[in-house]
Amino acid sequence: MTFENSLAYARACDANDALHAFRSEFHFPQHDGRDVLYFTGNSLGLQPKGAAEALKQELDDWARFGVEGHFRAKHPWYSYHEELTPSLARLVGALPEEVVAMNQLTSNLHFLMVSFYRPTGKRRKILTEQRPFPSDTYAFASQIAFHGGDPDADLVEVQPRPGEHTLCTEDIVAKINELGDTLALVCFGGVNFYTGQAFDMAAITRAAHAVGATAGFDLAHAAGNLHLQLHDWNVDFACWCSYKYLNSGPGSVAGAFVHQRHLGKHLPLFAGWWGHDKGERFKMERTFKPMPTAEAWQVSNAPVFSMAVHRAALQLFDRAGIAHLRAKSEQLTGYLAFIITGVEKVTGTHLEVITPKDPAQRGCQLSILAHGHGKALFNRITERGVVADWREPNVIRLAPVPLYNSFEDVYRFGEILTECLSASH
Ligand SMILES: *Cc1c(COP(=O)(O)O)cnc(C)c1O
Repeated sequence: MTFENSLAYARACDANDALHAFRSEFHFPQHDGRDVLYFTGNSLGLQPKGAAEALKQELDDWARFGVEGHFRAKHPWYSYHEELTPSLARLVGALPEEVVAMNQLTSNLHFLMVSFYRPTGKRRKILTEQRPFPSDTYAFASQIAFHGGDPDADLVEVQPRPGEHTLCTEDIVAKINELGDTLALVCFGGVNFYTGQAFDMAAITRAAHAVGATAGFDLAHAAGNLHLQLHDWNVDFACWCSYKYLNSGPGSVAGAFVHQRHLGKHLPLFAGWWGHDKGERFKMERTFKPMPTAEAWQVSNAPVFSMAVHRAALQLFDRAGIAHLRAKSEQLTGYLAFIITGVEKVTGTHLEVITPKDPAQRGCQLSILAHGHGKALFNRITERGVVADWREPNVIRLAPVPLYNSFEDVYRFGEILTECLSASH
């Protein structure tokens, strides 16, 4: 791939991009009368223009039908989550019965660990990547403690080699083998939030199963970003949020995956009425009869307002197709890496991208260690209308997302970065 550092080239790429029109389906925050350069779709995706109408439909149906909206609404609330299932299944590479939209991300991680982290005898450990998202660490440690274990001993992180920032798959597999029959669960992020490294979920799952452990993934940074094949990879369980790459709004409803081979097996779970067999739910019987699908893990009735926005957002993914999005994403992020290298040359600054160079080992995010510039540089680009994010201790994260970012965005970012670095000398 040969890129060029020019506005004309970036615009030509946009003109050739079959997905470019999706940009107009989103609201962009404004800075000095123009769209910001929005690179934080990995933190909170932009609002789809269809969201307001989808939400209004449910408010109107509530006004019109009251409780009867459960069955008489245009999209009946009783089965609302079912309308999301086919899109979610396509998005994560699952069978429809393996996925469900429910709860929030960390809640789902807990509910799924109830079924898939069941320490017995010496098999008690959870293996994760170095520096997982803090919420995941709290969830792992508290589950270990809940089962009477010692989080300091039983929560293990795979570390990078000396001088490196990211992990080698062979080191992950070696660690799994080393822990062997003391390992109960391997739970990684699909993409690490800090480094942007995408893990080989198929290889990790195989290695976990080979030593008798279960394998789960937190796909907060992978859903809507990578081309996932959860069913074929034999992953036991996964969960994700919908407000990052899936553009479904702050705190919107999350998702969960349970592999087909675990369905209908009456695994231990924390039950609620929405997990009960839907044909008999309103018989209000004492004995829990689980749904034969991932819906068995549902606890409460569907949060329809957030699901309405989620539905509008997922329609865009259905129209674009995750395979097409991923193909564009490799180009767009490759272009960003190229532009950053150019800025380094022109300004004589060392901008170390710690995200892997291999497109197979990353999604759209690049994480930059800005040696000697850090927070001050971040503040300057922010003043110029770049929305990126800063993660302690010293990383600037940028995520050009294929659904609404353009090659021109990336080119303009390079211009601003060059000016900010030049001004600081
Ligand atoms: C964003 C994120 C979370 C946030 O959890 P919520 O329950 O949605 O608040 C958790 N884990 C990871 C890996 C994340 O990236």
